[in-house]
Amino acid sequence: MLDEFMQGFASAREVNLLRIKEAKENGRKVVGIYCTYCPQELILAAGAIPVGLCGMSENPIAAAEETLPRNLCPLIKSSYGFAATDTCPFFHFSDLIVGETTCDGKKKMFEIMQDLKPVHVMQLPHLNNTEASFELWVEEVRCLKKRLEKELQVTISDQDIWRAVEVINQEKQAIKAMFDLNRADPPPLSGMEMLTAAWSRSFSSDKGELIDNLNGLVREVANQTNNRQVKAPRVLLTGCPVGLGTEKVIRLSEELGAYIVAMENCSGYKTLELQTATNGADPIVALAEKYMAIPCSCMSPNPYRLKLIDNMIDDFRVDAVIDLTWQACHTYNIEAFEVGKLVKSKGLPYLHLESDYSNSDLESLKVRIEAMLEMVEK
Ligand code: SF4
Ligand code: SF4
Repeated sequence: MLDEFMQGFASAREVNLLRIKEAKENGRKVVGIYCTYCPQELILAAGAIPVGLCGMSENPIAAAEETLPRNLCPLIKSSYGFAATDTCPFFHFSDLIVGETTCDGKKKMFEIMQDLKPVHVMQLPHLNNTEASFELWVEEVRCLKKRLEKELQVTISDQDIWRAVEVINQEKQAIKAMFDLNRADPPPLSGMEMLTAAWSRSFSSDKGELIDNLNGLVREVANQTNNRQVKAPRVLLTGCPVGLGTEKVIRLSEELGAYIVAMENCSGYKTLELQTATNGADPIVALAEKYMAIPCSCMSPNPYRLKLIDNMIDDFRVDAVIDLTWQACHTYNIEAFEVGKLVKSKGLPYLHLESDYSNSDLESLKVRIEAMLEMVEK
């Protein structure tokens, strides 16, 4: 039965592609998004389908490098490459793309992407602890609402937004419940299973169905006997986003006998404790508050990420931490210094890996992960 749920999550991309194609033929709009900072609630409130477009494949990178510098993060090159070669059907179906000024590479890439599709860029402040930056962000969320209304020819009411807030809050609760299963020892889900289930939300055209499936998975795991009784190091993965296609560190760690019990990155736990308030006077302000609290390394300073990692190490009974930086991602790369200090202060092994989407470093990654796992106290 667990396998059936997993197959459902694994085939979400193909199934939803067909559904989105049909929805488009019936006049529904699609909005492509690249980042956790995009307030999906507004897209749902506009009656459109939000789809995640983050590039997680090496295939289109060569084409992207005809336009973008080679020494750029692979996530940005892959995302742009899919767009430039028109090989991502979700990008193809998108009526509007929403970008954000998170890291420098992304914000400059979005300027170029505007030649391919309408792109709306949200100006994200780089500090989240002042009134001025909060006001700017509230205005940016209002601006997105106006752009969606104009581009999709709809009117978005406050009631529409509050309804969407409930849906996304429920989605986050359901994904968090799935991740929290792995607080158990031994963990019932592998890292690959967690990633497969969590990643499927990027393409889901029906949030209600996704929530039901996630809740069904949680119930199923609670009812079954856990067969993974082997004692193995429990590893937390943090750092840059990972998706299906760029899971090599998760896969290698599990092949080497570790359990990836938790993921702090954007594909994992980073935003799951953040719920939008449901009873404020203005839903835009409520959304701005929630999104502003995301602990991404593009924020300076970014203390909440360290707090989150600290708590997750305790809650998931973690034995070691792997911090993955995609090449040329300066913010996560530099923040690795503080993350390493925290992990070592808790007496745990810490491994910082810098990699790209190719398989050229598989052997050296394997050697380094193996060496770290040997340091875990038995
Ligand atoms: S790591 Fe930061 S910039 Fe990248 S998707 Fe997450 S929130 Fe957005
Ligand atoms: S991984 Fe780093 S450099 Fe790449 S898009 Fe995300 S924040 Fe930017």
